[in-house]
Amino acid sequence: MPIETATPIARRTRQARVVWGSRIVTVGGDAPVRVQSMTNTDTVDVIGTAIQVKELALAGSEMVRLTVNTPEAAQAVPHVREQLDRMGIDVPLIGDFHYNGHRLLTDFPACAQALSKYRINPGNVGKGDKRDKQFGLMIEAAMRWDKPIRIGVNWGSLDQDLLAGLMDENSRRPVPWDAKPVMYEALITSAIESARRASEMGMSQNQIILSCKVSGVRDLIAVYRELARRCDYPLHLGLTEAGMGTKGTVASAAALSVLLQEGIGDTIRVSLTPQPGEARTQEVVIASEILQALELRSFVPSVTACPGCGRTTSTTFQELTKQIEDFLRAQMPVWREKYPGVEKLKVAVMGCIVNGPGESKHADIGISLPGTGEAPAAPVFIDGEKHLTLRGENIAQEFQSIVENYIEKRFGNRVVTEAPDVIHE
Ligand code: SF4
Repeated sequence: MPIETATPIARRTRQARVVWGSRIVTVGGDAPVRVQSMTNTDTVDVIGTAIQVKELALAGSEMVRLTVNTPEAAQAVPHVREQLDRMGIDVPLIGDFHYNGHRLLTDFPACAQALSKYRINPGNVGKGDKRDKQFGLMIEAAMRWDKPIRIGVNWGSLDQDLLAGLMDENSRRPVPWDAKPVMYEALITSAIESARRASEMGMSQNQIILSCKVSGVRDLIAVYRELARRCDYPLHLGLTEAGMGTKGTVASAAALSVLLQEGIGDTIRVSLTPQPGEARTQEVVIASEILQALELRSFVPSVTACPGCGRTTSTTFQELTKQIEDFLRAQMPVWREKYPGVEKLKVAVMGCIVNGPGESKHADIGISLPGTGEAPAAPVFIDGEKHLTLRGENIAQEFQSIVENYIEKRFGNRVVTEAPDVIHE
């Protein structure tokens, strides 16, 4: 028997549509897993926020969430939208509401209209008898403006009344559960019960997306497995408060990969704390890389590179790898339109003769640089065949030109027959 390929399990969900103007981003159903991100600017700073949304969108974010926390922020939202429209950026905006969303969505209709989706945190909509009324006002706004919602539960702001009720219930069990399963239950119940209340009010079930974010990898896997088992809503997936740098990246990749491989997750966000000076777009790069590594989506040409070892003591191949990667990523905003399909290109940059020619032949285009003691020659392979050998000081520039020519020849003036990921009507 041949060994089966590790194809992700398909989870059938409803499909929601997140719309701005002629742009429709489908979520769930047979749509690809979408990349989301969130700004960290003050939304009142219209220009600063619009610039960051544009950067996130150009990096590949298909929806961008922004904070709507005050009347001033709500007033700014339509201006951010107008500014983006003037810049030709039609990425849908999602409003992130806590505590006062019911008032902001009611008092600022231009804000409610300019947003393409509302995130509602059922743990923060109000306490006691105010909770249902305030949640209801947000659902009414969503229905009035025909916007989908994400019911976004977070264990840092879990509905405390619900949790206390489940804890009481648990204490009456003959053998009470540990605290963690009760907390899992509270997260899932909060999301599903809120969705039920919204649909009882008349909201279409196809306009509802759920999330239950926690910051522990194994907790996230446990919660989403159960959430996916209990409902067919599209799920937004992310490890909340993932942390900074390598830690945040690895933890997000570990948690999301397990779930995505099981078919769980319709939109993802990597909640990375930026290192000082680091671009906000890094969270989009990592989210895209996770989807690309799992072969669920392709966003940029992939560069296969060896780690280097004692056989390659110069930094030439590290520099060439970085240069090619940066070059390919930087071109993508233009190439996406100009060269359809280029995101599936595979490039190899290898450090020596041991695995260099072999790995280069597996790629569409590859170069095997000379290791220590080897003749100063770098064979280039195209479509599995040795094409030429580069020598001298300008190997990097010459290889980049070869890659550009290859892309123009293979992807230029190409007729696309596949359905596009994002529909423009
Ligand atoms: S390809 Fe060569 S340089 Fe790269 S890791 Fe393998 S042996 Fe080392």
